[in-house]
Amino acid sequence: MKLEKQAYADKKGRLILPKGALNGFRMSPGARIQIKRDRNGLYLHSPAAQLSKIYIEPTNACNLKCRTCIRNVWEEPTGFMPDRVFERILEGIEKNPAPVSVIFGGFGEPLAHPKILDMAARTKKTKAHAEIITNGTLLSEACSRDLIRVGLDTLWASIDGARQESYGDVRQGANLEEVLANLERFARLRVPRQRPKPEIGVILSRHEAQHCRFTGIASDLRAHGCLALHGHQYLAPYN
Ligand code: SF4
Repeated sequence: MKLEKQAYADKKGRLILPKGALNGFRMSPGARIQIKRDRNGLYLHSPAAQLSKIYIEPTNACNLKCRTCIRNVWEEPTGFMPDRVFERILEGIEKNPAPVSVIFGGFGEPLAHPKILDMAARTKKTKAHAEIITNGTLLSEACSRDLIRVGLDTLWASIDGARQESYGDVRQGANLEEVLANLERFARLRVPRQRPKPEIGVILSRHEAQHCRFTGIASDLRAHGCLALHGHQYLAPYN
């Protein structure tokens, strides 16, 4: 462990954290941190009352018709988040004492919203961490360049299947190789650095994540700093 990552106890028995240790913890000055203890050590938790993550569903429209999609049994009309609603969300984010994470996703394809790039750019201007969950089919070169340019932090690709057979069974009419090509191009277009931004995450079903092709997909994107998501949890960082 590097020295700057170590805390130390002062003469009064207080635990002193190294400078920057709370970066990314989304704490505002004076905020109280919950401490939990078990036999393995002490754990610091941001207060549950503090807003730290916002999920925004820009639209419930989607260009796909997946067999497993909850939209198949919905009777909700298709809608796109209007400007005034998004403006109100931004106002709320700006009033929050600490930066938040904003995740564009939900039941619909965020990239199908005609103003998604503007929404991502405006979100970044609030100093929020911005993420998009996409099915990857609309990730054209122009769209990829724009998402990178506006400073998106993480792009999650929900591909469900690691093989065309299983992918096509769910994402009917879509082509896995085309989506993977979109993702690979997106990865290549990022400015090369040790940890290129936006990060890329892959969402697969539990069964598919265990399939051997998953390691191939993750490994292809690993060179560009890929993170793999299993269900809604990180499997492991692939970098
Ligand atoms: S990509 Fe997502 S939102 Fe679109 S049809 Fe499939 S499951 Fe539904």
